[in-house]
Amino acid sequence: MAYQYDLFVIGAGSGGVRASRVAASKGYKVAVAEGSALGGTCVNIGCVPKKLFVYASEYKHGFDEAAGFGWTNQGVDFNWSVLRDNKTNEIKRLNGIYGNMLGNAGVEVISGFASFVDAHTVSVDGKTYTAERILIAVGAKPFIPQFEGSDLVVSSNEMFYLESLPKKALVVGGGYIAVEFAGILNGLGVETTLAYRGDQLLRGFDQDVRDFASEEYIKSGIDLRLNTDVERIELADASNQDGARIVHFKEGHSEEFGLILYATGRVPNVSTLGLKNAGIETGKNGAVIVDRNFTTSANSVFALGDVTDKIQLTPVAIKEAMALIAYWFDGKEVDFDYDNIPTAVFSQPAIGTVGLSEQEAESRGLDFRVYQTDFRAMKHTLSGGTGRTLMKLLVNNADDKVIGAHMVGDYSGEIIQGLGIAIKAGATKAHFDDTVGVHPTSAEEFVTFS
Ligand code: NDP
Repeated sequence: MAYQYDLFVIGAGSGGVRASRVAASKGYKVAVAEGSALGGTCVNIGCVPKKLFVYASEYKHGFDEAAGFGWTNQGVDFNWSVLRDNKTNEIKRLNGIYGNMLGNAGVEVISGFASFVDAHTVSVDGKTYTAERILIAVGAKPFIPQFEGSDLVVSSNEMFYLESLPKKALVVGGGYIAVEFAGILNGLGVETTLAYRGDQLLRGFDQDVRDFASEEYIKSGIDLRLNTDVERIELADASNQDGARIVHFKEGHSEEFGLILYATGRVPNVSTLGLKNAGIETGKNGAVIVDRNFTTSANSVFALGDVTDKIQLTPVAIKEAMALIAYWFDGKEVDFDYDNIPTAVFSQPAIGTVGLSEQEAESRGLDFRVYQTDFRAMKHTLSGGTGRTLMKLLVNNADDKVIGAHMVGDYSGEIIQGLGIAIKAGATKAHFDDTVGVHPTSAEEFVTFS
C-alpha cells in the first residue's frame, strides 16, 4: 500500500523535531504536526525560558554581594514585564529557527493537533494523512490534583506569561519545577513559600544533597514548609477572580497569597490522540507503552520522550530520537542506557548530579566509600554571603570506579556534565586523583578528595 509519507511525527518538541529532521535528511518523506509553537515544552514553556528566568533572578544575589567587591548599587530595580517580553521575543526567535531547520531538512510542518484514525492514518483538523510509520512525540503536561479551589492555582505553563508578579507566592511540590520556580520567585523579590507534602525536597536525590539544598533555600529567604499540604483554596474577595487567594492548609492554619503555583508532576499528553483507534496500549498515567525499540503495541507506531514517562528530560528525548533513527536506518537494535544520566536542578544554588545516590548504592548492596566536603566558596569571602557548596563522590570498593557525583553550589550544572563523561567512561578514583585540578575553582575539589 502506498502511503503519503514515510514518517508522520506527532509533536514538534525536542524528540519530534530531532527525529523528523534527521529522518528527512536521510531520505524519508516526513511530516510533523504541531498544535502549539515549534520546539515543544522545552523551548516554549520549559527549560529555555526557565533558564532565562533563573539568570534574571540570580542578578538579585549578585547585587546583594557586589558591595563587598567595591560596588555601590543605587536605584536597582526590577521590571517583570521587560523580562517576560524579552523572553517571549527570544522564544519567538527560536520558534523561527526551528521552523527553518525543519523546512531546510524538507520536513512538511502541519499546524494542528493530530489524532489517530488507525495505525497508519492520522487526522489533523479534519484532514487525513497516511504514513508507513507514525511517531508519537507529544510530551507531557502539568498534573494538578483536583480539590476545592484547585481552579485558582496556576501550573508552570502560566508562569511564563504572568501579567504581573505577586507580592507573595506559594509554590506547592518538592520536585524540579517547584524548587526551580521557588528560587526564581525568591530572586525576583517575591515573598516565597515552598510547601511540600513530604519530609524533604527532591525525593530520589542523594539525602545529603536534599538536606543541604533545603538549608541553602531557607538561608536564601525562602519560607520552606515540609510535611505541609493544601486542603482547599478560596478567593479572598469572591468578586475578584484575579485577587488574593486564601489557602487552608491541612495542618490547620490559613494564609493569603497573590499566586499559587502547583508543580506536582507532569503526565503524558495523550488525551486527544485517539490512541485506541490505532490499538495503542497505555500504562500508568496514560504513558504510551513501548518496547526497547520505541515500538508501541501497533508495530507501525512508535513513541519516545515524556509521553512514554520514563525519564522526563529533553536530552533523553533527543538521544532516544537518534537511537530510533539508527534502528530504522541502520537496523541497530536500541540499547539505550538510562543509567548515569547527568542532570541539574537550576535552583539557587544549583544542583548537579550523576550516577548513584548513597541511598541507591546502599539498596543495591554495594560496598562503597564516600568522599564529601562542604565549604564556603571563595566568592563569598568578600561578598559576605553565607552560601555554602556541597560536593560528594561515591566510589565502588570492588573496582575503584566512581559510581556517583553530586554537587550543590554555583555552576553545578556546568561541572556535572564533565563528571558525567568521566563516569560513563568508567573512571576510577585513581583517575580522578591523577587529574590536575583547575585552580582556583570549586570544581577542583572533585580531584583532590582524600
Ligand atoms: P516531579 O515529579 O519532579 O515532582 C513532583 C512533585 O510534586 C513531587 O515533590 C511530588 O511529591 C509532588 N506531588 C505529586 N502529587 C502531589 C499532590 N497530589 N499533592 C502535593 N504534592 C504532590 O515533577 P515536576 O513537576 O517538578 O517536574 C516534572 C519533570 O520535569 C521532572 O521529573 C523532570 O524530569 C523534568 N524537569 C527537569 C528539569 C531539569 O532538568 N532541570 C527542570 C524541570 C522539570 P512526592 O515526591 O511526595 O511524590
